Amino acid sequence: MLPVIALVGRPNVGKSTLFNCLTQTRSALVADFPGLTRDRQYGLGKIGPLPYLVVDTGGLSGETDAIDALVARQAHKAIEEADAVLLLVDARAGLAAADEEIATRLRRSGKALFLVANKTEHLDPAQATADFHALGIGAPWAISATHRRGVDALMEAVLAAA
Ligand code: GDP
Ligand code: MG
Repeated sequence: MLPVIALVGRPNVGKSTLFNCLTQTRSALVADFPGLTRDRQYGLGKIGPLPYLVVDTGGLSGETDAIDALVARQAHKAIEEADAVLLLVDARAGLAAADEEIATRLRRSGKALFLVANKTEHLDPAQATADFHALGIGAPWAISATHRRGVDALMEAVLAAA
């Protein structure tokens, strides 16, 4: 069995962009419209010779309407089947209430968790990630999915834990 890595986070943090970066395909929809990726997307990633499955989720928005509830259910399924879960947050936007809600749920999942602060390409890594320590899932990894920065080091650590 391939290790399964799930990408989780509120809409617009860059899950689909990271998915594309890891799988080097355009199969996940990347858009400026929050919540557009409505379902789980599977892709094959590789770190060196080692393959893994990466799952892009529609996100956990903390909203309660019917479509969001459906999306959330998909995300929960993705978490259940994952060996490791990456919680993405937006370093430019800073800590959001939805990040805290998702972190609380993830901590209960018992999965290997990685906190990933995305969109850090123009930011000082230490400063950009400082607030996110409060989420209680370890030291944040600073990456830029659009610039592919920090992604290989992150995935090496993830695969070692998965
Ligand atoms: P998702 O809703 O979590 O899947 O987020 P998307 O992958 O659709 O990205 C939402 C927006 O953030 C898009 O406009 C992306 O181009 C942008 N984005 C994603 N990653 C980065 C990054 O590393 N840096 C910057 N500046 N923007 C990013
Ligand atoms: Mg998406």
